[in-house]
Amino acid sequence: MSIYDYDLFVIGGGSGGVRAARLAGAMGKRVALAEEYRIGGTCVIRGCVPKKLLTYAAGYSEKFEDAKSFGWTFGKLHFEWEKLISAKNQEIARLERFYRKGLESSSVKLYESRAVFIDAHTMQFEATGEKITAEKILIATGSRPRLPDFLGQNLCISSNEIFDLETLPKSIVIVGGGYIAVEFANIFHGIGVKVALIYRGKSILRQFDEDLRRLLQEAMIAKGIRVVCNTLLERVEKDNEQLAAILSDGTIIASDQIMLALGRIPNSDNLGLEKASITVDATNSIVVNRYLQTSVPHIWAIGDVTNHIQLTPIAIHEAMCFLKTAFEKKLTAPDYDLVATAVFSRPEIGTVGFSEEEAVQKFSCIEIYKALFRPMRNTVSGRNEKMMIKLVVDGESRIVIGAHVLGPNAGELAQLMGIALKGQLTKDIFDATIAIHPTAAEEFVTMYCPSYIYRDGKRQDN
Ligand code: FAD
Ligand code: NDP
Repeated sequence: MSIYDYDLFVIGGGSGGVRAARLAGAMGKRVALAEEYRIGGTCVIRGCVPKKLLTYAAGYSEKFEDAKSFGWTFGKLHFEWEKLISAKNQEIARLERFYRKGLESSSVKLYESRAVFIDAHTMQFEATGEKITAEKILIATGSRPRLPDFLGQNLCISSNEIFDLETLPKSIVIVGGGYIAVEFANIFHGIGVKVALIYRGKSILRQFDEDLRRLLQEAMIAKGIRVVCNTLLERVEKDNEQLAAILSDGTIIASDQIMLALGRIPNSDNLGLEKASITVDATNSIVVNRYLQTSVPHIWAIGDVTNHIQLTPIAIHEAMCFLKTAFEKKLTAPDYDLVATAVFSRPEIGTVGFSEEEAVQKFSCIEIYKALFRPMRNTVSGRNEKMMIKLVVDGESRIVIGAHVLGPNAGELAQLMGIALKGQLTKDIFDATIAIHPTAAEEFVTMYCPSYIYRDGKRQDN
């Protein structure tokens, strides 16, 4: 008979926390979970899911335009933000109910409150003051938007507020050059908002393959998004109902809303971690070993709060590793190698493995296979947008070590390429694969000759 109230207590009902609690409950463990906001966490409530719904909405504008070239005629188009947000809210509420049901059916006790540490085995709920004890504790508290201090920051919004704006702004300034800034610049542009994106670097999406970055930025500018690089937002002022973004180069941009998308900070503050002697680093991340164990052996941390890779599938993968280590006596470290990822911009980005620039630094012989073409749909519609498919190959082993796509369904393609790269397939296997015609993806298996190669870091064109 255990001396603790629960075998496992999970703090946070997001992607990682819900998966861990649900499966531990299904194993017959006595599990409780605390959530201070809404079940589902960032991904379901104000992240991946609502963002993807808005991305679909934004995609229709180009589809309507293109349809005319394919013989369609229709009347004046009208977009209603309120209708979209209401539909989004219904879907989010449905998913939240689904997550809740999953916890219930695994007999997980749910505490709808913020939970904080009293000591290394005791948690307290802020809503009621009640205390409980647990043998093992899992911290899955996620992250929040980084909001740097500057004059007028309180006039700006973040991704937390963007999904529930009461009215659609006529114009928006988005600050940042990462996933969220780029995705929302495309979403708002697609639904008819005038968009300016402000980024401190020389081109958006710093960690991505250079060709992807350049081609996407060019495409965004060509469709009418104002992209201002090498600039910082210095301060924001309010003038009647309009906001003025004042940039470091003196430029002033007026708009209805200013959204900050400057990265996310792990939620490790005010959790009472010091009472349990849990170590946190200078970036607010909870420090864990390779098995996700904190400085206290019976307390683990997963997902955004560890700041490994802030993606939903990583939080879920870490939850699965935690379960194996903590409850199945199989020490399991997460595998962060070859994580495929997508940016849901228009055109979309899908990518896995080494970028060309990274590969050249790490391997002595690199072959680059690259196809830049107009997708077939654009030939009739007259849309100028290009698609790019690129493979990075280790010239010695012939293994494909990077795959990059810019264009329609790039995320879907990168997911499949992720399997090929994880399986360490060689370029010869790609070449031996018969194409599906006519598709865009056939380029993956029909680029027989390298576009160029690198030897010891030096590019040699064919
Ligand atoms: P979360 O899902 O954030 O869950 C943490 C939960 O803990 C929250 O619900 C919080 O309320 C709760 N909590 C915190 N402290 C306490 C406490 N003391 N007591 C009780 N509860 C507490 N990832 C992708 O893979 N694909 C995407 O397309 C994508 N799009 C995104 C779009 C946006 C706008 C954002 C912001 C993020 C996006 N992400 C995406 C990232 C993804 O949402 C996160 O990586 C993922 O949700 C992390 O899961 P988690 O379990 O670590 O934390
Ligand atoms: P990102 O890390 O992607 O981008 C942050 C951006 O803000 C970078 O361009 C960075 O510049 C810039 N920045 C950071 N600090 C400052 C500052 N003080 N002043 C000016 N610029 C600054 O974070 P996001 O907020 O866009 O998204 C958070 C995370 O959520 C992502 O990292 C990703 O893991 C996840 N996410 C995933 C999505 C997906 O899978 N499709 C979609 C949305 C989010 P620099 O590059 O120069 O450092």
